Amino acid sequence: MVAFKRIPVRSLASGANLDVPVYTIRGSNPRAKRAYIQSSMHGSEVQGNAVIARLLELFAQTPPEGDVVLVPNANPFAINQKSGEYTLGRFDPTTGDNWNRNYWLAEITESSRPPWHKLKRKVWSAMSATLRARLQTDLPYGQKLALTLQALAVGADYVIDLHCANVSARHLYTPEYAEQEARYFQIPLLVSIPNMFSGALDESVSCPWWSFWEQLRTEAYPELPPSRELPQGFTLELGGQELISRDDAKRDAAGIINFLRRQGVASGRAIRPGPVHICALQDYKTIYSTHAGQVEITASLGAMAKRGTQLAQTLQFGRTASWQATIAQEQCIPILHHSSAVIHEGSELLKVFTRTRKI
Ligand SMILES: [Zn+2]
Repeated sequence: MVAFKRIPVRSLASGANLDVPVYTIRGSNPRAKRAYIQSSMHGSEVQGNAVIARLLELFAQTPPEGDVVLVPNANPFAINQKSGEYTLGRFDPTTGDNWNRNYWLAEITESSRPPWHKLKRKVWSAMSATLRARLQTDLPYGQKLALTLQALAVGADYVIDLHCANVSARHLYTPEYAEQEARYFQIPLLVSIPNMFSGALDESVSCPWWSFWEQLRTEAYPELPPSRELPQGFTLELGGQELISRDDAKRDAAGIINFLRRQGVASGRAIRPGPVHICALQDYKTIYSTHAGQVEITASLGAMAKRGTQLAQTLQFGRTASWQATIAQEQCIPILHHSSAVIHEGSELLKVFTRTRKI
């Protein structure tokens, strides 16, 4: 059973109103865990919309065990920001802020210590009340949107934010405590993030629970669950921006279903995950272009490159035409690169995993 509604998020000067579509699918087992999945918070990152369309098809065939909330086109203002053929969906054009840095970091102050499932519900209900109160005040649009979405996500054990990145191999951000679980998404490239909040949705879920869990551990709370039982936020980077593929969405959705099966949200048995490369956030490095011109990326995304391998070559004209090489300074896995062949010195040329662990 799918319930559909539209939540208003912004009135425009012309009088037009923007809203966000919300699909709520009731699970068959009220005790099963719940999931919240949104896509396209950055307007040019649209593959997640195809993935949500696919998930709606799959859940129509086989309803989930736990409740699932799906929010495609989560930022209707950003997806409409066009310049020429391109979608400028990453930053708020008014403030310059990254749309995915406006979420709220809850501080969990609950002092009672009932059994874990009750404690979790108490914390969620306090978070929900705070979010509702904040939404009653006047807020910059970026924050109002983020808090509206965050309020929809409260109460979900798994919050999955679907993004895309430049031109990239599929990869995902997982809190360190959920690395083993994140493997079930069947994306073999993982960025492991510490308990550090920078305003993104996944961190707004993981960080408060992580800190609270550490506090409960210090107190020797008798019902302390293993950390993999904590609510978790993930950001999945589903390939390049400005691209959509219905075929790829089948594979992307299958990976998400596999993860949800593992957690008991979707019905069926999860497939055991294959090996993954994990890179700590601090070792996920940006290579800034030391050359300016027109760049050809020669590195293979997602594949290990040895130290000394050419990653890119940049064409520039002086007395003669020359191609200037960018060489890997250490062994790495190139993950994403500049979206355009036209590049200035000092621009983000590539992002690479270094010092990876394989599990
Ligand atoms: Zn994004």
